[in-house]
Amino acid sequence: MIAEVNQEECIGCESCPEFCPEVFRMEADGLAVAYTNPVPSEFEAAAQEAADGCPAHCIIIT
Ligand code: SF4
Repeated sequence: MIAEVNQEECIGCESCPEFCPEVFRMEADGLAVAYTNPVPSEFEAAAQEAADGCPAHCIIIT
């Protein structure tokens, strides 16, 4: 699994690191980034939840 954040759409709500801090973090510019790829199998479910919960629908899971 690969997780990506489309930063052009991210609204900086800080939701994704709450769901899965092992994969997502907020950067100094206030936007999220996926920093653990490929996503370790034990975090795949949480990363998917983060994507499903993103209000801007800007987390891409492949
Ligand atoms: Fe950005 Fe979506 Fe993460 Fe919110 S949940 S910080 S909009 S990527």
